[in-house]
Amino acid sequence: MFKARIVVVEDEPAIRRGVTEALRLTGYDVSEAADGLTGLKEASAGGVDLVLLDLMLPKKDGFEVLAELRRICPSRPVIVLTARGGEDDRVRGLKMGADDYVVKPFSARELLARVEAVLRRTLKAAEEVQQVRCGRARIDLQRREIRWSVDERAELSETEAALLKYLVSNRDRAVSRDEMLGRVWGIGTAGLETRAVDMHIARLRAKLKDPAGDDNAEAIITVRAHGYMAGPGLTFETSTP
Ligand code: CA
Repeated sequence: MFKARIVVVEDEPAIRRGVTEALRLTGYDVSEAADGLTGLKEASAGGVDLVLLDLMLPKKDGFEVLAELRRICPSRPVIVLTARGGEDDRVRGLKMGADDYVVKPFSARELLARVEAVLRRTLKAAEEVQQVRCGRARIDLQRREIRWSVDERAELSETEAALLKYLVSNRDRAVSRDEMLGRVWGIGTAGLETRAVDMHIARLRAKLKDPAGDDNAEAIITVRAHGYMAGPGLTFETSTP
């Protein structure tokens, strides 16, 4: 089952523990950081679905973390945890691209409602990719079909379709093999070798070759010592306008 991954960046031990526990009990996969430096590292790691970010933090404050995170991962969802009365902070956080904020002290129920709302919005946006174009091919991810013309078609396996969807949904960055294993196969990195990812990518690339000749080499780019990235050869359409 899919478990959304949340990073909690909060230096107050009691709050951090409370938030982390509430999220874990709800079924989220949670990692925590007690200062801004560690927080930025955790928050910018692959496969993170949401960041809960305190503003007053040692080593690097929340605004700096937010600014750098926006540079590295422009679309990563962030909920800012602000102190009561810190209205300027709230406005500043939202202007810097935070998705929402929660004012301390907050109840677990209030926090969980905000978390759920942001995740619903952002995960849905990622799931909306239905149609991918690659050269003259139209790829229907739901039906797992590549179609160049009425007579020229190929079928994608479930894994190939999911891989393609994941790459396209994260097209502004390179995705590591470990992240693909965790997100596409839905398991921890211990179970499968990263070579499995390479094999599926190779198969996917072979299928993306146009029978008329174009090999679409720009569709999926290999990022050395890291993983893969959706190339300029892939464009997509979402299910809803
Ligand atoms: Ca703090």
